[in-house]
Amino acid sequence: MTSLDQLPLRDDLRGKKPYGAPMLDVPVTLNVNENTHPVPSAVRESIVAAVGDALESINRYPDREFTALREALAGFVSTQSAVSVHSDQVWAANGSNEVLQHVLQAFGGPGRSVLGFPPTYSMHPIIAEATGTKWVTAERDAEFAISPETAVAAIEHHNPNVVFFCAPNNPTGTGVSLETIEAAYDATDGIVLVDEAYIEFAPDAYPSAISLLARRERLLISRTMSKAFAFAGARVGYLVADPAVIDALRLVRLPYHLSALTQAAAVAALGHSDIMLAMVDDIRAQRDRLLHELPARGYPVTQSVANFVLFSGVTNPQETFQGLLDHGVLVRDVGIANSLRVTAGTEAETTAFLEALDRLAQ
Ligand code: PMP
Repeated sequence: MTSLDQLPLRDDLRGKKPYGAPMLDVPVTLNVNENTHPVPSAVRESIVAAVGDALESINRYPDREFTALREALAGFVSTQSAVSVHSDQVWAANGSNEVLQHVLQAFGGPGRSVLGFPPTYSMHPIIAEATGTKWVTAERDAEFAISPETAVAAIEHHNPNVVFFCAPNNPTGTGVSLETIEAAYDATDGIVLVDEAYIEFAPDAYPSAISLLARRERLLISRTMSKAFAFAGARVGYLVADPAVIDALRLVRLPYHLSALTQAAAVAALGHSDIMLAMVDDIRAQRDRLLHELPARGYPVTQSVANFVLFSGVTNPQETFQGLLDHGVLVRDVGIANSLRVTAGTEAETTAFLEALDRLAQ
């Protein structure tokens, strides 16, 4: 068997680890922050019909500009955020991971850097490395906050080409204030990207960086249909920014990167966004339940506005991870000392997790 070391691999990829959340067939899967509620059958039927129509012309390449999808996403974001977004401000790709890759292909790359604030989404450094962009980091304040001063000092220190904020942040669930994003924007001539994959789970009053877009042509907001929208398997992420940014992303995407089937399925699903998002309130309630129940069991939590909770007080995370798995519950060891992360699932799944934790403590 040939090993990786024997291949003429790029030097900067040697020794790197691929993204590796375990994919295990267990009854209660709470490890990758999906919406664990299945898509309602009425929406499934409408998606099947749309995909069926798309199959009629599947011998042809799809709309390279995914016009209908960009229009549907612009309409969706406009109603969600009360900021009017036009389709020429919208980009989409196969998951927001691919959107982030396009951003770093266009604005990062060899000789350039992207600043992040760990602990943060594990794919941010991996996408940086894969695009040859140097991943530079700065420390957060207490309780994983990032004050405007902290952000500005990090930008002055590193002078990055791109700044990544994750709000709400994975794996902590904490937000980033608009003041911090504004201060960071003013402190750099580079791109400021806010990864809002989990924004729909935040309280209604929690501000999206979409409200800052006007006159900030270097501010990019990425979002996804994989989380609140319950569409992770379809792989659709998107980005809202100035139309000039969208033109920049056109330079690096592969032609026809979004399949006709993906486009049709996503447009059909967006046509039922009320139903698709109907479970968000239930999920928020389960998150709030975890935020209450875990400390009651002696596990301190980080206050989360996302659909997951990082809890500490775990003496041996690997052992607890395995113990929970033995009881059919998959959570995530994110590599933070004495901590694990759990996704807020259905009420029954959250109960199963808490009961498994109780059994381990006995
Ligand atoms: N951003 C964050 C913060 C995430 O946690 C994830 C998924 N775990 C993504 C982006 C990527 O999601 P997707 O590619 O499914 O849109």
